[in-house]
Amino acid sequence: MITGISFAGEEFTFEELCQEEKLYPSFIWSYVKDYFTKKRSLYSITSLLMCHRKALFDKDYEVFMEFKDFYPMLRGVLFHYACLKQAEGAVCKECGNIHEPERSFEYPMQYGEEKVIIEETPDMLTCKELIEYKTVNKKPIEPHSHHLKQLAGYCLLLEKNGVNIANIRLIYFAQYDSVNFVWSKKQFKEIPDNQYFETELLFKVKERKAWEEQKRLPFPQPEYEWECDYCPYVFLCKDTS
Ligand code: SF4
Ligand SMILES: [Zn+2]
Repeated sequence: MITGISFAGEEFTFEELCQEEKLYPSFIWSYVKDYFTKKRSLYSITSLLMCHRKALFDKDYEVFMEFKDFYPMLRGVLFHYACLKQAEGAVCKECGNIHEPERSFEYPMQYGEEKVIIEETPDMLTCKELIEYKTVNKKPIEPHSHHLKQLAGYCLLLEKNGVNIANIRLIYFAQYDSVNFVWSKKQFKEIPDNQYFETELLFKVKERKAWEEQKRLPFPQPEYEWECDYCPYVFLCKDTS
């Protein structure tokens, strides 16, 4: 997990940044600290979509990141915080109720004789829509395939929990503008990448279990090359391969 940042040649834990109010006020660092240091399951949808090696580094190692490398992640987290605050207590225009953001869901996936608990916390779920937002440098023309997979996982989780939604909405916030992609549930299921997602997820669960039980470091196997460019464990990865 990421436990602090370094800038101007010095290292600071999130705890210290919180106390010293460097760059941002305490409440921001306190949220950032909770976000990055909370214990995460190896079997959440987002973790299962990650390189196995990265997920296990994330569980077992504590690292500091250079502020310039950390900044894109920080921006995403701060944006989520702002959206969370906006959504808290807001009355839904569709049904007049309040839908709390970031509700967690889980379901037990059968794995051989055993079960693993798959869990995840979608950004927002209303009576009608599943909403996921992403911060990006540049507005994409098409949704990114790894985001579609993530959403396919969320849909599966909601289905297993008996939650019915009409639409799936993916919002990309770039620096000056944004773009929304909206699908009905039927349209979303017809996207080729999403059709066999449950099978893909089960395959990932089996691999993850095997690596976890072997207590060996998994091979470097990122699905996309860019994953390594953004990985906070890249220096550990190079040292141990
Ligand atoms: S650097 Fe690449 S291969 Fe190594 S853990 Fe990170 S994502 Fe995986
Ligand atoms: Zn509603």
